Amino acid sequence: MKILVMNAGSSSQKSCLYELPEAALPEHPPEPLWEAQIDLTHAEGVAEIKVKTAAGVKKTESYPTSSRVEATHHLLETLWTGDTRVIDRPGEIDMVGHRVVHGGEDYRASVFVTAEVKAAIARLAKFAPVHNPVNLEGIETLEQILGSSVPQVAVFDTAFHSTLPPAAYVYPGPYAWLEQGIRRYGFHGTSHGYCAQRAAQLLGRPLADLRLMICHLGNGASLSAVSHGQCVDTTMGFTPLEGLMMGSRSGSVDPGILLYLIRDLGYTPDQVDTMLNRESGLEGVSGVSNDMRLVLEAIAQGNERAKLAIDVYVHRLRSLMGSMLASLGGLEAIVFTAGVGENAPNIWQAACEPFQFLGLRLDPAKLSRNPDDQDIAAADSTVRVLIIHTQEDWAIAQDCWHLSKTLVGVEN
Ligand code: ADP
Repeated sequence: MKILVMNAGSSSQKSCLYELPEAALPEHPPEPLWEAQIDLTHAEGVAEIKVKTAAGVKKTESYPTSSRVEATHHLLETLWTGDTRVIDRPGEIDMVGHRVVHGGEDYRASVFVTAEVKAAIARLAKFAPVHNPVNLEGIETLEQILGSSVPQVAVFDTAFHSTLPPAAYVYPGPYAWLEQGIRRYGFHGTSHGYCAQRAAQLLGRPLADLRLMICHLGNGASLSAVSHGQCVDTTMGFTPLEGLMMGSRSGSVDPGILLYLIRDLGYTPDQVDTMLNRESGLEGVSGVSNDMRLVLEAIAQGNERAKLAIDVYVHRLRSLMGSMLASLGGLEAIVFTAGVGENAPNIWQAACEPFQFLGLRLDPAKLSRNPDDQDIAAADSTVRVLIIHTQEDWAIAQDCWHLSKTLVGVEN
């Protein structure tokens, strides 16, 4: 069966098409038939579109539009037209899976998209104003192209964290907050969930036997504590702003700072929003970039603020890892994933150093980037340390495949 995955970000759209056997899922992620992305940040009024196929065809195009919907239509047409064509007509797509950022309290697993689900995604846009509307737009675009008979699936970023106990998700504000939906939801759930499954596979043990700390360190960054298959704690909260220092997001700061900025220094809420989301983190402290690679390069050239940015990044990472450890009460493995987590050996070392007292030891021979998932702990380490290449699109396709089996059951 052919499953199209739609993964929409605030200013990007990634898509891929998998061909999966009906009988059983492959153990390892297969290469998609077609992968494509839209970058809307490249230039004003232009969508930068990149497409690549399993057959090795690559195409980059600057498409003149500032409409995401138009760009998405154009992107999807490359599936059945031109030299990137991998299917003859849109009707060959059997199912579509969408990454949806916010599923609120109601959605604890992936579901088929219905009118009710669409209404919930729209309602939850108040909690994820940048993401949920574009996720819904993606669903509606595919309805236009494929008609309503092709099943679409919503895979929620919050769902993996729906097992958080109340002590972890209730904020210690007025109780009314909880009634207003102000609570910890957690994000990056598709990645955390994939990494938990993959860690169990790599360790050759059932997930139910393991306590895992998963460090998703990309542009956005979050940790999760996964105990016996259930997420029991995570660092992102009501919004994806809480927790770790990130590329350009501050992570947790004293809320009193925000009151001071607004009340005493006269900043508007929108200005504070921009500060916290775009002008903070590695970018804000270093003044160099939100890209970890450039900040590390700047340190090598003697840039003191770049060094300070990495020191703060590591300090916060370690202290929140300690917090996840306490929520787990024991640890079989730490997982590093996403752009920084998969590629930055100096961050692995710095993050793990304080946990040496537990008997955690890294293997010096393995401290380099590797295209394969790997265990970088020394043979005698009491805790395994896994580098896992996150596969969010594959996780979405797997959820679609599993749900397709329930559909067959209903039809029979
Ligand atoms: P997103 O959260 O946008 O999906 P990614 O998971 O792709 O982000 O991570 C992007 C970040 O990963 C980049 O901004 C960069 O800082 C970091 N990164 C990528 N490669 C390396 C590397 N070799 N060393 C250090 N950091 C890296």
